[in-house]
Parts: sequence; C-alpha cells; structure tokens
Amino acid sequence: MTDRPDRRSFLGSAGSLAAVLALPRVREVAAMQAPAIRRAPPAQPAAISSANSLAPVTRTAELVLQGTDTLDAAVEGVKIQELDPKDDSVGYGGLPNADGVVQLDCSCMHGPTRRAGAVGALEGIKTPSEVARLVLKYTNHILLVGEGARRFALSYGFKEEDLLTPESRQKWLVWRANRGPDDDWLQVPDKEPMVVRPTGTINLNVVSPSGDISSITTTSGLAWKLPGRVGDSAIAGAGQYTDNEIGAAGSTGRGESNIMVCGGFLTVEAMRRGLKPTDACLETLRRAVAMSPARLVDEKGRPKFGLTFYAVNKRGEFGAASMFPGRYAVHDGKDARFVDTAYLYERTK
Ligand code: ASP
Repeated sequence: MTDRPDRRSFLGSAGSLAAVLALPRVREVAAMQAPAIRRAPPAQPAAISSANSLAPVTRTAELVLQGTDTLDAAVEGVKIQELDPKDDSVGYGGLPNADGVVQLDCSCMHGPTRRAGAVGALEGIKTPSEVARLVLKYTNHILLVGEGARRFALSYGFKEEDLLTPESRQKWLVWRANRGPDDDWLQVPDKEPMVVRPTGTINLNVVSPSGDISSITTTSGLAWKLPGRVGDSAIAGAGQYTDNEIGAAGSTGRGESNIMVCGGFLTVEAMRRGLKPTDACLETLRRAVAMSPARLVDEKGRPKFGLTFYAVNKRGEFGAASMFPGRYAVHDGKDARFVDTAYLYERTK
C-alpha cells in the first residue's frame, strides 16, 4: 500500500492541474541556474593507527593506492598484528582474561556503503577483523558476541585455535600468582617482573585517494579482564566510527571511559562542526575526563587512565590526541612514520 496518488488522480484534481500549468517550460528550466555540482576536493590518501601499527598503516596505504577498497585494505593491514604472536594486545598472543582465556573484540565500518560489523568476546579465532567484516557483509546485524560469534566464524571455515602463546600464558600465570594477599595463589619472588593490566589495541582509519573512508579497531582488550567483558573496540560509535562524508575516528586505551562518551562518534561529529582532526580528538578527551567517576581522577582532576583518539577527515587530514604524551603511526600516501600525539596532561612519573 502507498499513500502516493497515482498519476491519473493527480492530474485530474483541479489544484494539481493549476500546479502543472504553473510549472516553467522546458526552455525556462534550462535558463534557470543549474545546481552547482559539488566536487569534493581531491583527498590526500592517509592511513593512521596506534603506535604498534607501522606495518599495518604501510600495508593499508599500499593497497588503497593500488585501488583496493578501504575496508579490505584496513583488514589486511591489521591482520599483520593480529597474526603476530609477539603483539600481546591483539589477536593471536593477545593477553587473556582472568580465566586465562583470550577473548577478542573488533568492530569496523565501511564508509561508502554505510555498514558496520563487529564481534565481541570472540574465542579461538586469530583474526577477529575478518569475522567482523563478514558480519558487516553478509548479515543484517552489526554485533555478534561470544559463542554465537565463534560459531558464525566456524561456519565460514575459520579454524579454531588456541590463542595463548607460551609467553602470554606465562604472563597470565605470573599475574594470577600475584593477585592479592588473601587469594589462594602463592606469591612469586619479588625479582620476577609483575605484569600490570597492560593495554594495547589497534585502531586504524583510512582515506583513499577518491575520498572513501573506513575504520577498524581490533583488540584482546584489557588484560586479565572479567570473562565476558566487552570493551569499546567492539562497539561501533565508541571504538571506531566512519561517516564517508566527514571522516573516521577511533580509540585505544581504557575502553570503559570511551564508551561513556561514544568517542568515535563524538570525534566525527566534532569534525562535522568544522574542527580539525587533532582538535576533535582533544575535545573528546576533555569530555571523557569530565565524564569520569571520582575514583578515576586524582585530586587535581587528572585522569588515572590512558586514552587516545585518532582521526582522519575526508580530505585526508589526520591527527591524534592522548591524555599523556604518546605517538601514533601514519602513512600519508608517501611514507610511513611515527608522529607525536597532542595531549592534555604531562606525565608526572
Ligand atoms: N580499548 C581497549 C579495551 O578497553 C583496550 C586498549 O585499547 O588498550 O578493550
């Protein structure tokens, strides 16, 4: 059923006839000023990412320069780290949860088709980026979690594997042995290094030479997290966000603080209002501090946690900002390098 009048009843009504007679003739229409064709200024290709991602930005940029789709290029880029057992913040080798189980989060967005896909607390699959992209491409959903996400991946032929490496298992054992004075675990000797809740993640945002944009964030999440905890990386709008008309942004660091401000979305909205990428990231950080509960800020109002935002706009301008000094990886279409982030606070220790 439709509310629209059919052509016959439209032409038959007196009011409509008057409207038709009032229409300008073809030549008059031609003489009217044609609407300007808005051509976006050519984009400067760019891929930016967290500091553990020089190889991913390089691969991503190489691929988009060859004409590969922005999301496909980004997935190929982050997979380098997901598959690297030495990177203990993502994919294979990522640090596990409190039970010693690796649970991975990832979300992605594809600007040209305005689609998103994500997985949360995914176990046993080395490359959650590929699974998130499958959710985006082949389902009417955005986020699959836990057992459902795992079974979805297996149905596409992914192999289930143990994601713990000997090194990440060892770090977990040390953490467990040092948990607290009242637990059942024996203390390990003082000289043995103690691992304290490390964080690490990849957020990668990319703009192609034609101005198409995609973003992806992938992580093993906070080390030693409560089983089932899903962080910002799995949440489109928080861990990353893309609007193909404006730009993309994403985050690494304390996910709960990012979720509280929907930071990926907020940063893109700041760019929509005209802010440059770095200023947009700084504005989102200030909001994250303002939204922090008292236990997460010190007596001077400084955050007790780290958080970084990364952003690109449609023209290929880029920037990043963090709570404390840091750096990020950039490929500007010519070469890859590290760039210092803007920041809100000096480190005190
Ligand atoms: N944002 C990630 C999370 O909270 C962790 C990180 O970036 O270090 O799961």
